[in-house]
Amino acid sequence: MPADKNAAPPLPEPLRVPVADSHTHLDMQSGTVEEALARAAAVGVTTVVQVGCDTAGSRWAAETAAAHAPVHATVALHPNEAPRIVHGDPDGWSRQGARPAGGEAALDEALAEIDALAALPHVKGVGETGLDYFRTGPEGKAAQERSFRAHIEIAKRHGKALVIHDREAHEDVLRVLKEEGAPERTVFHCYSGDAAMAQLCAEQGYFMSFAGNVTFKNAQPLRDALAVAPLELVLVETDAPFLTPAPYRGRPNAPYLIPVTLRAMAEVRGIDEDAMAAAISSNTARAFDY
Ligand SMILES: [Zn+2]
Ligand SMILES: [Zn+2]
Repeated sequence: MPADKNAAPPLPEPLRVPVADSHTHLDMQSGTVEEALARAAAVGVTTVVQVGCDTAGSRWAAETAAAHAPVHATVALHPNEAPRIVHGDPDGWSRQGARPAGGEAALDEALAEIDALAALPHVKGVGETGLDYFRTGPEGKAAQERSFRAHIEIAKRHGKALVIHDREAHEDVLRVLKEEGAPERTVFHCYSGDAAMAQLCAEQGYFMSFAGNVTFKNAQPLRDALAVAPLELVLVETDAPFLTPAPYRGRPNAPYLIPVTLRAMAEVRGIDEDAMAAAISSNTARAFDY
């Protein structure tokens, strides 16, 4: 390991076939958007999907996509954001810090703003939405599920992709999707299910987007899922600044590190990296209809 374990990892060998980072948070990374895009493009990551997690972040995502051709936006209230809007945020992790409770009316108001943003041409998806039972406790479940159902409806009405955040909530996420009827294009971001769930997702035609944690030593179930997922439903993402792939785990993540994860994925599938990149490239364009 280098002396400074907080230093940005070096640029990987460029991909020969350009791909997209299907899920990133440029607004949470250091440096400018231009720098991030230039570094990514230098290694063959020529497209990024910028994901909104609250109203301000969603507005920013839409504006950034409008200003930069390689950027597409998605807009939403994160599953951990919805309960904060309703119940307040006594000790939350929100970038805005603590916030007063706004009740269901405040959630409706925020959802109306997401709805308006979802209509914009540079906004290609609604998300990340879904359920997170890891960070949100039982008291937040109802608000989370109500918000998730509203996002599904918004995605369908605007004909946009749905981007799912599913943390320790597989069964309920699949159940709500079934009850509401999933949009034509649904992406499980940072796919975290096992091989059996990958089969269920495949039956429904859900895209599965793999993040840097697929490279972690303890992530064999994730690699087993990747091994059985239909190739035409597989995407890659950074979820940067989170989930930096091995061997850089713990250091800052950014879209330019996609090749590291993609190469590990090609190895799991037993195909060469160009074939993996070509599949991912066309899958991402199909998922987000760009
Ligand atoms: Zn997420
Ligand atoms: Zn995310």
